[in-house]
Amino acid sequence: MGNTHIRRGFGLKDEIKDTLNQEFQSSLIDKIKASDSQYTDGNTRIKLAKEYGFCYGVDRSIDYAYQAVKKFPDKKIYLTGEIIHNPFVNKRLMDMGVRFLSGQYHKGESKEDIRIEDIVILPAFGVPVSFIEELKQIGCILVDTTCGSVLNVWKHVKRFSNDGYTALIHGKYYHEETIATASQTNVSEEGKYIVVRNFAETERVCDYIRDKGGKKAFLDYFRKAISPGFDPDQDLIKIGVANQTTMLANESLKVAEMVKEAMVDRYGANTIDDHFRSFDTICSATQERQDAIIELLDSGVDLTLVIGGYNSSNTNNLTNIAVRYGLAFHIEDASALLDDEHIRHKIPDSQEIETTTGWLPQGKLTIGITAGASTPDKKIEEVINRVLDLRKGEL
Ligand code: SF4
Repeated sequence: MGNTHIRRGFGLKDEIKDTLNQEFQSSLIDKIKASDSQYTDGNTRIKLAKEYGFCYGVDRSIDYAYQAVKKFPDKKIYLTGEIIHNPFVNKRLMDMGVRFLSGQYHKGESKEDIRIEDIVILPAFGVPVSFIEELKQIGCILVDTTCGSVLNVWKHVKRFSNDGYTALIHGKYYHEETIATASQTNVSEEGKYIVVRNFAETERVCDYIRDKGGKKAFLDYFRKAISPGFDPDQDLIKIGVANQTTMLANESLKVAEMVKEAMVDRYGANTIDDHFRSFDTICSATQERQDAIIELLDSGVDLTLVIGGYNSSNTNNLTNIAVRYGLAFHIEDASALLDDEHIRHKIPDSQEIETTTGWLPQGKLTIGITAGASTPDKKIEEVINRVLDLRKGEL
C-alpha cells in the first residue's frame, strides 16, 4: 500500500484556483490594499489593518481540502471537525459533500463509519495523536493539513516530555489545537501537561510551586486541563512553557515570566535551567495581525469591527486588543450589522452573543476593520459594503 498519510496537495492547484478566487477573494479589498489600506466614501473612511484575514496555514488547509474534493469526486470525504474556525468556509465544504465527524456541522456519522477507501481531512489545528493512530489502523487516506506553526509547537512539547519536563501550555484546554498539542506529551510514557488560560490560572500554578496551595483544590480546579494521573507535587518540579499559537503574544510572554519567577523562588536562580524552559510558540501570522491592529488603532479610528468566527481564538484576541482602545465589536459577518441602530456581536471574554443598540455613530466617521486568520476577503468585503450602505444617509 502507498503512503496514506499525505501532507501536501495533489498537484491540482491550477484546477481549483478560479473556484477559490471566486469564493474567497475580493476586488474591493484588493483596491483598498492598493490605496494604502484606506477607502473613503462620503463621510465614511474605512481603514483596513495592514495584516488581517487568511494566514498561510489557513490558505494551505483550504487549498488541500479543495484539492482533495477535486481529486476524489466519487469517494466519501470526512473532516474530523471544523477545518478552520469560519462558518462560511465550513459550510462551503459541507455543500461540496464533505462529512463532519464532530462539531456543529456533524450530522451523526462517526469514526466507525469510515472505511479503508475513504478520505479523512485533518484540520489546520491538528488532531490528537491517538486519533491519527486510530485512523491509520483503518487504512483510509489522511489528508493532513496541520499548520507548520502547530507542528512547531508539537516539536517543543515533545521535547519537554522526552526530557522529563511537564508541558505548561498557555491556551484553552477545550480548543482543538491545544487538545492536539497536549496529546503530544503522550509520546513519552511519563509525559505530563497542564493548560492555563490566563494570569489567574497561572498564579494558581505559581502558588503551588511556591508551596502555597492545597493539592485537592488544585486538582479540582484543573481537572479538565491536566494529563491523567497529574500529581502537582511531582509534575510541577520541571516545567516547559509553550502556548497555543493564537494567544495574545504579550500575555503568553507574561505567563512564562510568572512561572519562571515562581521556579526561581522555589529552587533558586542557579539551578533554574534544571526546572524551567520556555518557547514562545505564537505563530508569526497571529503576531503580525496583533501588531497590525495596534498600528491601526494607534493611527486613530472611531470604531473598530473585528470580523471572524465566534470560536476563532485569534479573532477573539484581536477583539480583546481593540476594546482596550475604544468602541469595537467582534462580528461573524455582514449579517451581524442588523441596521444602523443594532449590531449582533460577541462579548469579549465570554461565550455570549448580544445585540447592542446605537453602535454606528453619525457624522464623519473613521472605521477600523480587521479580521481573524480564518476570515476570507469576500466576507470582509461584505461587511464594508454593508457599513457603507448603512451610512448612505451620511454622504
Ligand atoms: S493562525 Fe497561525 S497556527 Fe493557525 S493556521 Fe494560521 S498560521 Fe497556522
